[in-house]
Amino acid sequence: MIYLDNAATTRTAPEVVEAMLPYFSELYGNPSSIYEIAGKSKEAITKGREQIANVLGAKPEEIYFTAGGSESDNWALKATFEAYRNKGNHIITTKIEHHAILHTCEYLEKERGARITYLDVDENGVVRLDELEKAITPETILISVMTANNEIGTIQPIREIGRIAREHNILFHTDAVQAFGQIPISVDECGIDMLSSSGHKINGPKGIGFLYIRKGIKIRSFVHGGAQERKRRAGTENVPGIVGYGVAAKLAAESMQERTARETELRDYLIGRILKEIPYCRLNGDPVKRLPNNCNISFEFIEGESLLIMLDMKGIAASSGSACTSGSLDPSHVLMAIGLPHEIAHGSLRLTLSGDTTKEEIDYTVDQIKVIVERLRGMSPLYEDFVRKQKTKQ
Ligand SMILES: *Cc1c(COP(=O)(O)O)cnc(C)c1O
Repeated sequence: MIYLDNAATTRTAPEVVEAMLPYFSELYGNPSSIYEIAGKSKEAITKGREQIANVLGAKPEEIYFTAGGSESDNWALKATFEAYRNKGNHIITTKIEHHAILHTCEYLEKERGARITYLDVDENGVVRLDELEKAITPETILISVMTANNEIGTIQPIREIGRIAREHNILFHTDAVQAFGQIPISVDECGIDMLSSSGHKINGPKGIGFLYIRKGIKIRSFVHGGAQERKRRAGTENVPGIVGYGVAAKLAAESMQERTARETELRDYLIGRILKEIPYCRLNGDPVKRLPNNCNISFEFIEGESLLIMLDMKGIAASSGSACTSGSLDPSHVLMAIGLPHEIAHGSLRLTLSGDTTKEEIDYTVDQIKVIVERLRGMSPLYEDFVRKQKTKQ
């Protein structure tokens, strides 16, 4: 199998699995207990927290473990809204956020009296800073803009967004699930107050994530119960998950420069071959400000789902956008937001590389896409019609 869906999830690194194993077997103690094996669990959590904090230039006590990216996003938005309700009810976000953000915003809007501004993005998926500034009101309590998009890979100017938030004394949260471990992020340099991340997107385990909360920010517990995570997130810690996540974060940071340079080169080779060798297709997302491993292309006269099924038959795992929208007939909200017409958005393919992806895999994939696109177009009455009209024009 050729796995090109690393934005959906990644393979758990062997080093990560190995580091986790003892915490399933002999070191199963509850970190809150006082005997020796419990102490080992507690130490392991401390180490994992430090490993993660190091990657962000954060303090370990600013890292709060959760069950993943979705929980971290929910926590950041809902708890900020509650804690700052006296100051105002306005939140600014974008139209291209992950559903963990968008559906939480809709909930706050419908059930809790929030007012939400969903910013447009430009044709490459980048937030316009002047529009962000214009959207700010005295009631604005939070700006939540993702660091990098999961569908089209566009990287946002988070440093500038953080600066604007600071100038207006507004909290800044960023969903960095796709960006953490892929591009350098410093919470201090970017003025980030809260940041969400998830283990399984960086070769760590599933079901573990964290929310970075800058020291001094008053947001409440999301899960009530025991005193774990400095009383802000109750529940016996996912010790093996935290251990694996810590190792995954460390590995991602150490290999970042070399890995992403390689990925970027392969990505551009992949994009270049498709655009050159297949007619009537376009690259979605920013050509430069994009994640090193993301390629998102729309093919005219093609149904993305058919393309995916035929790629699967050739042993290639890819996606038409985000895993969440697969199986739904609605075109991706991200592709709509960058202005793609419905029929073109429907013919989109997302290929996301890993550090292990090879040039041979890319070549095989492009060769297969070429054949499949030609076959699917051959069966399309729309394409037939289009070709006939082109001919009469000549
Ligand atoms: C995957 C993803 C999430 C959700 O993370 P989970 O750990 O799967 O809950 C949130 N935001 C973005 C941008 C993602 O890519």
